[in-house]
Amino acid sequence: MIPKDHPRYRSLVAREQLARCAREGIVAPEGLAAHGRGEAFDYLLGEKTTESAALAERTAAAMLLAARHAVISVNGNTAALAAAEIAALQRASGADVEVNLFHRTQERIERITRLLTEHGVRVLTGTPERIVPLSHDRALSLPEGIGDADVVLVPLEDGDRCAALREMGKAVITVDLNPLSRTARTASLTIVDEVTRAIPAIAAACASLEPGEGERLIASLDNTYLLRAAIDEMRERLAHALE
Ligand code: ATP
Repeated sequence: MIPKDHPRYRSLVAREQLARCAREGIVAPEGLAAHGRGEAFDYLLGEKTTESAALAERTAAAMLLAARHAVISVNGNTAALAAAEIAALQRASGADVEVNLFHRTQERIERITRLLTEHGVRVLTGTPERIVPLSHDRALSLPEGIGDADVVLVPLEDGDRCAALREMGKAVITVDLNPLSRTARTASLTIVDEVTRAIPAIAAACASLEPGEGERLIASLDNTYLLRAAIDEMRERLAHALE
């Protein structure tokens, strides 16, 4: 039992949750390493939502609401950390949810679908096809899901798949604590924030956008500015770390 007053409480709870989900076959062992990379960047951000991330989260809400067909693509780490938050975002945005895995097995798809469903997510099911221009099983997606979407939210994605979705003409929103990753630099909109802070913030923004605000946010979207602001924040904190 992790004491609530532990200074690293949230981080320790997340690790415990991921380790449990890894034992249950929901999170791939490689997913634990990916989480570690994210944690390191979150440390540099001060484990908080920056002003530029908050702007990115409002813009993400605007894009999801303005989409013809928005789909949230969920992998093992996202399901393990934020299943209830995905359910709330689905309610707030009306987006479809599709399970999509880098380390894909039918068994993991079913386990993750069950976990999400238990938390109130309506998960798209169907017969996946090789839709995304990638080799092997990473190409598999649902024609009526990601295949049909114009806007895809893919938290914790890898660069190849993000680029492939962009090549298909889709607007890609990602959540990635590493502003230097290929995903962060390839996405249409990158939210440099921890996924359990980012998803509720997008859901809250869906409910609070003012008339006309969404159009303004989408028109002024500048992903390079958002990435630079995240890097500046980290640089600033490093510069003053020992003061
Ligand atoms: P790329 O292929 O885009 O260069 P990568 O090889 O680092 O990136 P992955 O190993 O798939 O990609 O890792 C996924 C990304 O998710 C990492 O960049 C990591 O910083 C980020 N990440 C991991 N955990 C979280 C989290 N809880 N919240 C937000 N981002 C996270």
